[in-house]
Amino acid sequence: MKNDQDRPLTRQDRCDRCQAQAYVRAVLPQSTELLFCVHHFRLYRAALEGMATHIHNESHQLLSQADQRPQWSAARDAES
Ligand SMILES: [Zn+2]
Repeated sequence: MKNDQDRPLTRQDRCDRCQAQAYVRAVLPQSTELLFCVHHFRLYRAALEGMATHIHNESHQLLSQADQRPQWSAARDAES
């Protein structure tokens, strides 16, 4: 199996807390993976940075779109 810690996140990847589109993958010891939306990553960031062995963060993609669509419109689209 390839090392997929850094495989790109897709629209099928969902935040483990709220099911919004995930933009961050945190890899914990024993290869446990947690996915977070930007909102929940910010909430848990301090704890994750202390625990995770690897953090793959694509939140810059969301931020780069911010002048075109509000952050939460993407989450609403995903739920409809
Ligand atoms: Zn979330």
